[in-house]
Amino acid sequence: MQTDIKSLYENELTELMTGFGEPKYRAAQIFRWLHEGVTSFDKMTNVSKKLREKLVENCYISNASIEKKLISSYDDTRKYLFSFFDGETVESVLMKYHHGYTSCISTQAGCKMGCTFCATGQGGFSRNLTASEMLAQIQAEQKDNGIRISNIVLMGMGEPLDNFDNVVRFLRLVSCENGMNIGMRHISLSTCGIVPRIYELADMKLQLTLSVSLHAPNDDIRSRTMPVNKKYPVAQLLDACRYYNAQTGRRISFEYAMIDGVNDSDSCATELGKKLKGMIAHVNLIPVNTVSGTGYRKSKKDRQQSFINILAGYGITATVRRTLGSDINASCGQLRRKNRQDTATIGGE
Ligand code: SAH
Ligand code: SF4
Repeated sequence: MQTDIKSLYENELTELMTGFGEPKYRAAQIFRWLHEGVTSFDKMTNVSKKLREKLVENCYISNASIEKKLISSYDDTRKYLFSFFDGETVESVLMKYHHGYTSCISTQAGCKMGCTFCATGQGGFSRNLTASEMLAQIQAEQKDNGIRISNIVLMGMGEPLDNFDNVVRFLRLVSCENGMNIGMRHISLSTCGIVPRIYELADMKLQLTLSVSLHAPNDDIRSRTMPVNKKYPVAQLLDACRYYNAQTGRRISFEYAMIDGVNDSDSCATELGKKLKGMIAHVNLIPVNTVSGTGYRKSKKDRQQSFINILAGYGITATVRRTLGSDINASCGQLRRKNRQDTATIGGE
């Protein structure tokens, strides 16, 4: 089997070179090429032809090919549908902020978690992505736009903590000084709340921002929209979040998609405020994105301000998240689903 060379840490690459009878410094050279985003071994011009041939024989470089690209006419947000070697597809979104470019990448093709409001969740699960396939999404966006990405959010398709080892490998690789050198403080990881993995992540004491998709103040409402809650209920999740706070000193961002008549009443806000009181936390209120077939609608405008006021009473700051690329369905899962439906239609004709 060929080695996925871009997923290797530098010390593993050194071992590979030693196995090939090559000097150790070759590893640093190759590592640099891989993380600059070369897509073939031929481009490694300071590596001998003999070694390049050996690499072609034994290894491969993961690449993300652009299948589709949508550009928002409102704010220049770019949404990509990428495909990998086996034809599997994922979405990724490139956003421009005043402080630079942020890429929102996928960690799995599909998702097992089945959240009822989420297009990805409704589409089922195909497979985990490798660390190199996560890197490849960023590299493809940098190349396509001639830019450097400075911030990353793991908020695309998939549940990052359900692909823990590959995600941690990606985090360590992307923040490597010899590689893309994007520091942990510039990376956010969003989870639906896989409690044991939150403890594990906390113990690693990475300086990541953790976003927790809470979306409801109690088990009754949360279990209706997020099946994961049946396994890891709200109280357990919030305990894990407090542990994360304590271990890392980092503030947690709670995501709260406001759904009309489901989770947006004043009593929901009060219950949320009581439960988050005393935590180092911020709440991001997101008008839920309407996904066809789910039957959910965005909350009425006044609900957001009401939540902000009630939460402030418990010392919790809340803001409404600016939605970028709303004309191109920038929230993930929808483009892939549409692409599959289109393909299915073509195939069925
Ligand atoms: N699986 C992870 C990360 C990917 S989802 C998680 O669930 O956190 C990224 C974010 O988009 C999550 O906060 C998720 O709850 C939210 N999301 C999914 N579908 C949405 C929709 N229709 N409207 C608004 N937010 C949505
Ligand atoms: Fe998966 Fe996150 Fe979508 Fe839930 S919201 S189905 S965890 S991608």
